[in-house]
Amino acid sequence: MGSFKLGGMTLGSLFKKPETVLYPFETKPAPAGLKGHVENEVSQCILCGICQKSCPADAIVVEKKERTWSIDPFRCVQCGTCVRLCPKKCLAMEPSYTPIATAKTCRVLQVPDPKAAVTES
Ligand code: SF4
Ligand code: SF4
Repeated sequence: MGSFKLGGMTLGSLFKKPETVLYPFETKPAPAGLKGHVENEVSQCILCGICQKSCPADAIVVEKKERTWSIDPFRCVQCGTCVRLCPKKCLAMEPSYTPIATAKTCRVLQVPDPKAAVTES
């Protein structure tokens, strides 16, 4: 009886659409509750470094002098601590798939200097 059922399932699967997709050319809708990845609205960032200090995975580096905020997506464990503690609320979990990469690189974002914007205008 068991092998009969298994045979039926195997035969049935021959005519079903595959469950897998050809990622990244095709994607499935993001499942409910997907944490995704961290995004920073850098125009609001004050480079305070709280996110760096609070990250349990050492995924964030804030360079005040260079005015850069960077994240290593391969270290991030999507815990959301940085998002909760950011005093400017400029961090958010983007509930979409993490962008694909061909090498282990950090995402480095340049934080605009508000003083420079004032001098320019
Ligand atoms: S905690 Fe927020 S404001 Fe502070 S450096 Fe991180 S992203 Fe910028
Ligand atoms: S979500 Fe967690 S692991 Fe990822 S960068 Fe923020 S604090 Fe670090």
